[in-house]
Amino acid sequence: MKIKYKIALSYSISAFVLLNTFAILAYYFSAQSRKAEYLERLEYRARSIANVIIEDDRVKVDLLRKLDKTTFQDLYKETILVYNPAYDLLYSNIKDTAIRTSRHLLDYIKKNGEYSHERDNGELVGVYYTEGKVSVIVLVTSFDKYGFQNLQNLRQILLIEMIVAVILLVVVGYFFARRMVRPIDNLVTQVQTINANNLQGTTVHAKGRDEIAQLGANFNTMLKRLSNSFDLQKSFVSNASHELRTPLASIISQLQVALSKERSKEVYQDILASVLEDAQHLSDLSNGLLQLAQSGLDEQQFVFTEVRIDELLLDMGNLIKLKHAPAAPGTEAYKTPRVDIRFLKVPELDTELICEGNESLLKVLFLNLLDNALKFSSDNTVYVTIDFTPTNIHVQVKDTGIGIATEDLEKIFEPFYRGTNSHQVRGHGLGLSICKRIVLLHKGQISVESVEGQGTTFTIILPHRHQ
Ligand code: ADP
Repeated sequence: MKIKYKIALSYSISAFVLLNTFAILAYYFSAQSRKAEYLERLEYRARSIANVIIEDDRVKVDLLRKLDKTTFQDLYKETILVYNPAYDLLYSNIKDTAIRTSRHLLDYIKKNGEYSHERDNGELVGVYYTEGKVSVIVLVTSFDKYGFQNLQNLRQILLIEMIVAVILLVVVGYFFARRMVRPIDNLVTQVQTINANNLQGTTVHAKGRDEIAQLGANFNTMLKRLSNSFDLQKSFVSNASHELRTPLASIISQLQVALSKERSKEVYQDILASVLEDAQHLSDLSNGLLQLAQSGLDEQQFVFTEVRIDELLLDMGNLIKLKHAPAAPGTEAYKTPRVDIRFLKVPELDTELICEGNESLLKVLFLNLLDNALKFSSDNTVYVTIDFTPTNIHVQVKDTGIGIATEDLEKIFEPFYRGTNSHQVRGHGLGLSICKRIVLLHKGQISVESVEGQGTTFTIILPHRHQ
């Protein structure tokens, strides 16, 4: 069922229940007050009759008979019965003298002074009246014709009102529900026109400041993020194929040149060295893509164990030193790489240096950062500091190298993005995007501070426990 019909229906039902309750209460109280009023009237009548017929300590029913003959009955279908305390019928205004009142009722009236009762054919009131030495029991019954007629009128009016109210409620309810739901309908119509091809720059419009406008705004934010990630994916694929094509094209062209005619041994050696370099480049790139794909996997697919971060950094430091070891030791241009690891405060417990994480991914993370620091620094030295709080471990990887231009700082974590000043240095621009994904997988944070020409500091915060 559509929302507008649901709103209209629940609004109409609740309003109907409310109106119905009011109508039933109004009818009930009117009926109660009619009954009370009529019984009071009958009692007054019975007492008046008793008062009239007792005169000089005697019961004078003749007076009543005369009155009965000369005056109109002012109560509808009125019957009057007068008994003495010995239950002899002294007066009756009905012809059927066989009618007798039950002894039980007369006993009750005599004992309690009065009695009132509502019956199908009218109300009955009996009073025990004493004046001087004389007592009589007067019973009056009558049917409240006008009262019941009024009640019936009231019932009809209420019924008609209810029918009209229900029709109005349904119409008004539907009208309001349609008005309330219109912004959602608009939103739905706009959303239906969005697809993968027109995602870019598309927004939905929802006026006002209500929840639906809020939903529209949130939807726009989501669209923007989706569009960005679509763009990123598109550029990722084109960047990746471009990066793969360049070394492959270079390998092919070099091999074609080599095969075009016979060459000297030195030329073959040069060509093979150059092809080897391109092949290494390709191997690095495919490793990077593999790591990127792995780091994008769901965290549930990795085994998380307790990893000593200081030991891991030490191992990675040694590994990276080997990688950056000078090709020609002793020459001026190649300085021996140095990885300087320090604690900012002395750890008292092992647990202060432990991080619950995936060891191989953490190795990739720190290897990439140390590699970058050595790659982009002039003095081939990287300074690592380790600090900790009760909840996190802080690692800073600092170098005094070429630094990163301010406009590049935001983008260096995107895949294939390379800084404007880094084109002389070999790389694919994948390392930092892998690092960021690994840190996020560990529910940590990574940030960078850099001044171009002075150096760069990466800060990584990893929680001890992976929640
Ligand atoms: P790559 O190192 O292969 O270029 P990365 O993703 O590791 O790719 O780094 C992206 C860019 O960030 C680099 O091209 C470089 O411009 C910049 N960068 C990263 N680390 C450093 C650093 N320590 N010093 C200077 N620039 C850096």
